[in-house]
Amino acid sequence: MGDNIFNLWEDKKDLKKLESKALKENIPIISRETANILKSVITVKQPKLILEIGTAIGFSTLWLAQYTDSDTEIVTIERNQARFNNARKNIKKFGFNDKVTFKFGDGQEIVPYLRREFNFVFIDAAKGQYLNLFKLVEDKISENGIIICDNILYKGLVRNNKKVDHDIRTIVINLRKFLIYLKNNQKFKTEIFDIDDGISISTRRNS
Ligand code: SAM
Repeated sequence: MGDNIFNLWEDKKDLKKLESKALKENIPIISRETANILKSVITVKQPKLILEIGTAIGFSTLWLAQYTDSDTEIVTIERNQARFNNARKNIKKFGFNDKVTFKFGDGQEIVPYLRREFNFVFIDAAKGQYLNLFKLVEDKISENGIIICDNILYKGLVRNNKKVDHDIRTIVINLRKFLIYLKNNQKFKTEIFDIDDGISISTRRNS
């Protein structure tokens, strides 16, 4: 498996350059582990309509664009103007402009206005908002559709009951509430993976 991951990234020199640039400029992007999970899921599911909340500079968007069919559309939302502008440039540079629809603003305000059914949603935004964002997208997922959320275990702090510093307490409390919500959710079946900073994969049950 290690070899596969290595080859996968060796083949993608330009993407590696963008990855290095993001890391150098302290722009948070998906880890390689997360990237490979996303790749596995979309390769199997081949979603036709994807929603991403948290574009940053478009690294994960490019990753999703690469492993989906040419007629797949990715709607991606970013609230930071500079990152949004950068993402547009990067997606264009990589030749995926036709597959990506950009939306500038807060996902919490934009999602309620999205009218289509998504087959796959990737939430990689402000951690304190995951519960809210998940609830907003829930009704916009097709049958057997999938929602993946990144960084849900937040440096291992979410799963233990240890006291956390004041400045990150709200994030940790909100993520704990989110995990309880997922656990009790009748409409979605969720698996939590202790990979990297924690990933949840939720599949909509058939109604
Ligand atoms: N998915 C990106 C990647 O891997 O290349 C990284 C996303 S980064 C971890 C999170 C991004 O989400 C930031 O650029 C931030 O500005 C944006 N963000 C956070 N909360 C948001 C929200 N509610 N709506 C839209 N964008 C949000």
